[in-house]
Amino acid sequence: MFSDTYDVGPIRPPSEAGSLLIRVSRNCPWNKCEFCHVYKETKFEKKSLDEIKKDIDAAAQLYGSGVSSISTAFLQDANAILMKTSELIEVIIYLKSRFPAVSRITTYGRAQTVARKTVSELKELKDAGLSRLHMGLESGYGPLLDYIRKGCSPEELIVSGRKAMDAGISLSEYIMPGLGGKTMSEGHAVETARVLNAIDPDFIRVRSCRVIPGTPLDEKTRRGEFIPLSDFETVEELRLLISNLEGITSEIVSDHILNLLQEVRGTLPKDKERMLAAMDDFLALPIHEKELFQVGTRLGWFGDLEDMRDNARRRRVEGILSGIREEIAAQGGGFTIDDVLREALKDRI
Ligand code: SF4
Repeated sequence: MFSDTYDVGPIRPPSEAGSLLIRVSRNCPWNKCEFCHVYKETKFEKKSLDEIKKDIDAAAQLYGSGVSSISTAFLQDANAILMKTSELIEVIIYLKSRFPAVSRITTYGRAQTVARKTVSELKELKDAGLSRLHMGLESGYGPLLDYIRKGCSPEELIVSGRKAMDAGISLSEYIMPGLGGKTMSEGHAVETARVLNAIDPDFIRVRSCRVIPGTPLDEKTRRGEFIPLSDFETVEELRLLISNLEGITSEIVSDHILNLLQEVRGTLPKDKERMLAAMDDFLALPIHEKELFQVGTRLGWFGDLEDMRDNARRRRVEGILSGIREEIAAQGGGFTIDDVLREALKDRI
């Protein structure tokens, strides 16, 4: 993908929505994770330093006097840190010379790649200006990492995460509740907590699993080999995971629409009990109230549990829920509210 004047990749983390995007390599060198659709049908390509610098020049020209308003930058694509350390440092220094107001530069990094770098290399990157690494941990459960072909072990996740933290780079670890489906849910929750406890990242970012059409995980689901969790089961799993987080000071961030309970966010350990209580309150609701919240949230009427007190919105969602129930009954009950919502939201992932 190209903007009008320079090369821009397809995705960035939600927290980098306002950042300047500079693509230092194209696509994903691994490209095998079974839940991921982003770079399928593409090939990984390295870019030369010259090419990257030309993109930075083009971006600077495009922004003109607005260059001084750009304070954050994100280096794309899926594993920009794969670049030789000395070259990546040169990119960062050049980027800062053309965008002098940039004070935060971040990138994605695969665990295997980060684990291969030394702490002193990572420190050099940090000193040059690499402020934060976004890493897709997804799960700390070995059998699940194999099942979804993540291409790394729990130990590599710990080593890579610790190296980034020891180098002083701010670390965001992304976790995916629901990724183990019904059969691996407990192991996924408990082992992911164990790995996070060993890393103590700055941020734990929650992105609940949704099976994306066309992915290998979707094929496994159609064959009946993978059985997705319902929204409510995913909340139960996240509760188990958070209850097992001990001795760390990470901030749990919920910044993705796939998370049902956006109020499950806060800083450990002080907000742990509040987050657990929010999930307990939800799970203790009568089934009608849970379904009302589920439908209202998924369709954008509710932002949190408090919103269910708004009578106008509540009446609107009651009507939608009745319609869904009637449709399910008319079809003989062969599908669930989760199925209806999955279908309705399949283009919004
Ligand atoms: S999840 Fe990340 S590492 Fe895995 S295939 Fe997708 S982009 Fe590549």
